[in-house]
Amino acid sequence: MNYQQVLETIKDRIDIVDLVSERVPLKRRGRNFVGLCPFHVEKTPSFTVSPEKQMFYCFGCGAGGDAITFWMKIENLDFNDAVKDLADRLGIELPKKAPRGSSKWETYHAINRAVKDYFRDVLLENQRGKTALAYLKKRGLSQETIRTFELGFAPGNYGLSEYLEKRGYDPQDATALGLLKKVSEKTFVPVFRNRIIFPIIDERGRTVGFGGRALGDAQPKYLNTPDSMIFQKGKLFYGEVQTKREIARGRKAVLVEGYLDLISLYQLGIKNGIAALGTAFTDFHAKRLKRWADQVVMLFDGDPAGYKASSRALERLIRAGLLAYQGVLPEGKDPGDYLTPPDAEALKEVIATAEDAVLFRVRRSVETEGEEKDIKDREERVKEGLGFLRLIRDPVRLDLYVKEACEILGLKREILYDIIENSERKYNSAHNDYPNRSGGNPRNGGPWARKGTQRPYLPGKQMEDAEEVLLVSLMQCPELSHEMKKGDVLGMFRNAALRSLGKNLLSEIETRGTVDASRLTHQLGGEEQALLSRLLIGAHQMREDQIRKAFSDGLRILYQRNYKEEISKLDAEIRETEKSGNFEQTIALLKRREAVKKNYQNLIQHHKSR
Ligand SMILES: [Zn+2]
Repeated sequence: MNYQQVLETIKDRIDIVDLVSERVPLKRRGRNFVGLCPFHVEKTPSFTVSPEKQMFYCFGCGAGGDAITFWMKIENLDFNDAVKDLADRLGIELPKKAPRGSSKWETYHAINRAVKDYFRDVLLENQRGKTALAYLKKRGLSQETIRTFELGFAPGNYGLSEYLEKRGYDPQDATALGLLKKVSEKTFVPVFRNRIIFPIIDERGRTVGFGGRALGDAQPKYLNTPDSMIFQKGKLFYGEVQTKREIARGRKAVLVEGYLDLISLYQLGIKNGIAALGTAFTDFHAKRLKRWADQVVMLFDGDPAGYKASSRALERLIRAGLLAYQGVLPEGKDPGDYLTPPDAEALKEVIATAEDAVLFRVRRSVETEGEEKDIKDREERVKEGLGFLRLIRDPVRLDLYVKEACEILGLKREILYDIIENSERKYNSAHNDYPNRSGGNPRNGGPWARKGTQRPYLPGKQMEDAEEVLLVSLMQCPELSHEMKKGDVLGMFRNAALRSLGKNLLSEIETRGTVDASRLTHQLGGEEQALLSRLLIGAHQMREDQIRKAFSDGLRILYQRNYKEEISKLDAEIRETEKSGNFEQTIALLKRREAVKKNYQNLIQHHKSR
């Protein structure tokens, strides 16, 4: 089965209602199903799933798409991994992309294994490793720990190039792995020099990359091998091969920033540490950690940078559904400082007494440190602290948090919920410049159901509705594309996102003759993708004559606005020329005004007579 066939099969055999129901309780409402949105906090359901269109859309936060999009969002996966997951359920094998098991794949692993041995031997048995070994011992690392984590040392000379050559490895391969650097036709020099080496081992125990810490003052202090065919930094943890089992046993992990931090914890007997690979802690990391743990204690450096990093990690931990705690180290200390003298008890105490990381922030926000903090400053901090509550999806958990936060802040629950929902709205409008629109509420059925409702529309609002109606008609009746292009209808659109979606629809119709929404949805950017889902879900199936009628109505509104704008512009010009006594120009303008009016009346007549 090729990739395209796999996609088709997923579309045919996975029902979006079943898939969503696994995560979100759904209730039938008319043609659709609705539930509480898993992507934002809400009390009344605006998350809508359409079985006929096989699409979902949230009228609260604008998330939308098909089954694959849903799985990507809820599981924090990229497109390919989501497809793989869904294919797995159906028992379909994906075509192999990476040449796993191929000679290249094996060669790369073999090179890394050989290089790891080389670095280790230099550290433990070579004169050149003496300073490094002394440094590690001074930091309090035992011989056993050094062996467990297979630490090594990259000497300052070019010995590695020679070593690999002697074993018959192609220097080009070592270059692809970021171990050697080509400096001339035949000369390759080692990338890591004078650095303590931390081999990075994947879950199957294979050496996939290296981290190197400068022994002297060389910059950067930490250096990692780049991503390669066998190594992706954003997806692996340092130390997982040593600590994963212990984490899974207690469903609890201690998240630290650096390699040495993790190693120090381990030596002190705290064997459930985990660290990202030099780079930031990603959503993927959080999601992966969720498989082994429910609780995470963040043990970051006790300085502002460490606090900031922990805030970023916290956001991702909450999103993945993990409970996070803030271990607070004294300012300027890191976990490694507890090795000399060994003080496991003190560190265990910090971990055991770690406060819930969200409440920690709420509490910190009201603690006044002296008189210099003004109200504005404190208000910002309260809101920032509460901003984290917005990310909590589980309503029960959220309610418990709100209860606690109310006590800390001395606020009423209603007020707190108000603040949370407000910060949510702010967040949404900052991330999606197509605003939330009560007019698109599922209860009144989207753009088609507006007729007959007595709600007064703001002019701008009505325009957007007309633009939406035109696009929905176009999707249901592709023949309308000619009229759309003929009058440059999209050129009259005011909403840029709708105009851009319209362009995509037109080119889709031009190349395929029809709109395959599910295919199109994965080609569009996030905002247009959500827009497309919303329009599709809001649209009723209609007869062609109804569609054409709606299309004409939409066009009329657009023409009318254009006409009014043009007329008022002309009127202003006419007043100017009258004032200056330029009769010739005034008459010319009056004639133009007449022509515009006539043209408009013709257009309106044309669309009425249909
Ligand atoms: Zn939502």
